[in-house]
Amino acid sequence: MSIAKNLVEQVNLFINNQEFATGKDLEIRDPGKRSDIAGRVSIGDASHVDQAVTAAHQAFLSWRNTDVKERVQLVLQAAHIIKESAQELAPFLVREHGGMLWEANLDFYLGEHHSEFYAGVAESFLKPEQSEDERSWISSEKTAKGVIAAIVPWNMPIVLTMNKLAPALLMGNTIVVKPSPTAPLILSVLLQRIAAFFPAGVINVVHGNADVGEALTSHPLVRKVAFTGGTETGKKVMASAAKGVKNVTLELGGNDPAIILDDVNNLDEIVTNILKATYMRSGQICFAVKRVYVPESLYDKFYNIACELSDEYKVGHGLNEQSSFGPLNSEKQYNFVKELIHKAKHNGATVRELGQKVDPDGWNDGYYILPHVIRDVNPGEHVVSCEQFGPVLPIVSYKNVDQAIEMANNCELGLCSSVWSSDHERALAVARRVEAGTTFINRHTADSLKLPMLFGGVKQSGIGRELAVHETLNEYIDHHFIRTFK
Ligand code: NDP
Repeated sequence: MSIAKNLVEQVNLFINNQEFATGKDLEIRDPGKRSDIAGRVSIGDASHVDQAVTAAHQAFLSWRNTDVKERVQLVLQAAHIIKESAQELAPFLVREHGGMLWEANLDFYLGEHHSEFYAGVAESFLKPEQSEDERSWISSEKTAKGVIAAIVPWNMPIVLTMNKLAPALLMGNTIVVKPSPTAPLILSVLLQRIAAFFPAGVINVVHGNADVGEALTSHPLVRKVAFTGGTETGKKVMASAAKGVKNVTLELGGNDPAIILDDVNNLDEIVTNILKATYMRSGQICFAVKRVYVPESLYDKFYNIACELSDEYKVGHGLNEQSSFGPLNSEKQYNFVKELIHKAKHNGATVRELGQKVDPDGWNDGYYILPHVIRDVNPGEHVVSCEQFGPVLPIVSYKNVDQAIEMANNCELGLCSSVWSSDHERALAVARRVEAGTTFINRHTADSLKLPMLFGGVKQSGIGRELAVHETLNEYIDHHFIRTFK
């Protein structure tokens, strides 16, 4: 790894606390300025995965016997390193993943605090429970599983990795992390800094494409796969892990609905909040608002305010303070969102492209898409029914609340959702009928989450929960009962 003045020039695989260059490099370009190279990453293959997992397994044999107090101290040290590194590394993260600087800082902040959260609860969670009956003494113990594979996406790479690394290591496991090939640089730099405080082999990093992911999830010495990413990839991960009967945690995609009830009386404020929840991270957040259901009586008003406010958004590079949000992360994602917009228009929806270009001259050098507000759209149109992952707000009208709930639930994804109303009891009754892991009432932004709040989805949005105590930590241990007869 070498850090130049303006960019991370090269990151390599990291196995047994040693860097490993494979000789096959991938260039990472700034999604907001494609003419700039943010760095290069060394790409591995199945043989490197085997080396990393073997090193992690070797380290596991002694790491699992360390005192939990020592592990807690080291994870707190990791949190401290994240905090200390944030100011220096966050701008580089922006250059590889395309977010705003404040979003990159939030990623570091959450990574630090979530690690501290898990460190604070590990010791009491691991306490063995003893009981006695007429015939025996019973000890109920929690043991580490072994090597954990963590596969993470590019949108919030720091916190999404620490959500796996902290519980895994605290429970006595070791880890092999596979960052996304579109945001591998800063996560690798940070993990190397953290790994320096741990015994060799406890934290390993492999880079590569789907073949590396497949080799990792199917490796016989990997005992659990903790995955955050798209639903289609999640299905492949689960199938691959099934071959070895491995435990999986899958945090997958979302197509979050926001349901506006007809009793709302502060529509300006509500639309302001909905737009924040739609355009955060350029729409590339698993629990961004991705479709909104509005009663017919408020439809025109809601749409007009949404257009007016969307027009105030400024789109530009994440390091430019004038920008409200940045580019999309990759050409693939850019083309996908453009196609969804095009298809909606073609199929008769009214589509407004709004907002301002911060740097019109540099516009075509990045994957920029302006905010789009869409009305008169068929509820089954692809831009409504799929996870767009872009700055797009389809607004669907409804006649009655039953119809709104039915449309909201008519989707295989069920991550988060929101209900907006001035009547709490009414909102609660609607929220209870929404199929989702979480339903917020009168909010849906990044600050709506709270620890320990069981984050995760229903239906095809995933399996398992992160950010909780028992529900999360249980996934990183095995239960071992010992019964001694008198
Ligand atoms: P992807 O599913 O495309 O990729 C996620 C990771 O999986 C990448 O590192 C990817 O590597 C890897 N991968 C791809 N194929 C395989 C395979 N066969 N086996 C193992 N690993 C594989 O997601 P994105 O990176 O595009 O992230 C966006 C998605 O993540 C969205 O759907 C979003 O909703 C979801 N997400 C969910 C969150 C949640 O908590 N529920 C939070 C944040 C994001 P490669 O790129 O090389 O294919």
